[in-house]
Amino acid sequence: MKWKSPEPREYYSKYKKIDVKNGNGWFECYELPGDVYAICEPQHLQEVNCFLIFGKERALMLDTGMGICNIRPLVQELAGGYFDTLQIVNCHAHFDHTGGNWRFHEVLGADTDLSRRQAITGVGSEPLSSQTDEDMFLFGYPQGFKPEEYCIRPYEFRPCADGHLFELGGRTVEFITTPGHTEDHAMLYDHRDGILFAGDMIYFGAIYVQFNNDILGHSNIEDYIASLDKIKARCKGLRSIYVSHNDFITDPSAIETIKAAMEDIISGRAAGKPLHDAMYGYYQDPPTMKEYFFDGFSVIADR
Ligand SMILES: [Zn+2]
Repeated sequence: MKWKSPEPREYYSKYKKIDVKNGNGWFECYELPGDVYAICEPQHLQEVNCFLIFGKERALMLDTGMGICNIRPLVQELAGGYFDTLQIVNCHAHFDHTGGNWRFHEVLGADTDLSRRQAITGVGSEPLSSQTDEDMFLFGYPQGFKPEEYCIRPYEFRPCADGHLFELGGRTVEFITTPGHTEDHAMLYDHRDGILFAGDMIYFGAIYVQFNNDILGHSNIEDYIASLDKIKARCKGLRSIYVSHNDFITDPSAIETIKAAMEDIISGRAAGKPLHDAMYGYYQDPPTMKEYFFDGFSVIADR
């Protein structure tokens, strides 16, 4: 597979790697500017990132990863004395962000049917089977992982309102609902350092706006654009964007770049290529989804 390369991704060299005891040979941890730790899973194609955000008195965590390995001991190690009061938020209910949720007492997220339903039912192995193909793993399955049993377990969920402020001690982090990728997508904005945690909506890789089912939810490209506008208006003093896949940090100019790409797709100015790749779990015959290629990223859309 194209994504596989024996060398570590070059972008990791920009950040300070933390030596951790509980990485399990699976998780890696990096220290980012602004009292933030990133926990990543570079051995799975999703290359998903979780974040721990520290204030003077409390910490907040964004997402719990794929649930392939146990993230809890690592979070305990990194959060230290902040672990007992740690709050966890999901940027949305997709499996790659919610897999470790059940290991914690409660997780907050946007108040939608999708997020409420998934917390109650979880996601069974069958809809996730494309994710556990051995080709999705850089060095094969981690020890003890049983692909046929991989699923998202139910978890305790608490809805979080748009504009809710997490007070971490000398640091306020705002929860902002941003539908588009899915109806329950949300971002976190750190008012102290101007850091936007943008989840799956602003990054340089494949951007997904094609979901339309009860498990993965519903994308909406017009909502996506409206959410990017909302972020621009709400995040005064925005300085950097931390994202949930691939390289951790991107520049605020990415908002305009991605918004322009979405507008080009809607208006027909951009031409897409019909998507056939069964490996990624969105095979359709005849194909109705297209991948649109832009400078440094692509958009997969249902039109
Ligand atoms: Zn994701």
